[in-house]
Amino acid sequence: ASVKNPQGKEINRQFHNGKQAGFIRKKYRMLRRKLGQSKKVKAIKNINDKEQRWMTDLNHKISRQLINLAVQEQVGTIIMENLENIRNTAKSINRADRNIHSWIFYQLQQFIQYKAELAGIKVEYINPKYTSQSCSKCNKIKKSNRKANLYSCECGNHIHSDLNASRNIANKYLEQQSA
Ligand SMILES: [Zn+2]
Repeated sequence: ASVKNPQGKEINRQFHNGKQAGFIRKKYRMLRRKLGQSKKVKAIKNINDKEQRWMTDLNHKISRQLINLAVQEQVGTIIMENLENIRNTAKSINRADRNIHSWIFYQLQQFIQYKAELAGIKVEYINPKYTSQSCSKCNKIKKSNRKANLYSCECGNHIHSDLNASRNIANKYLEQQSA
């Protein structure tokens, strides 16, 4: 997340590492596969419920930390991408996994939205087109600038690709406001 003032200057940022969530999901996937071979339907359902509770709990924690930051920095509006983009970034994984993947992000957005509203913060969604491919510093669009976690542009912008996308999301909204 990137926190920007109305002039577009970043005043704070926050990272949430998806690694732990990925690790837990891999563990449950392996458990399911094992049980799938022995057709233990009830045990598989228990595992699914457990994984869902774990992810829900994580989403509560992440959304809480984001809202705490927003309150601390007196943020008036939180900007998020609409969900289409999340499905696209997940296209390398299989369909069942993709469904879980988009469910997790959808739930996270819902949690952020209702906690923001409780804190009196507005929530807006923008079209995610090019937010991960554009340079947040010089606006150049180049897909190959993004390599996994790193966004690297000829203009000298070398930053975490998620931070780059976060800045683009904020910039896009600010541009719309001034247009
Ligand atoms: Zn650039």
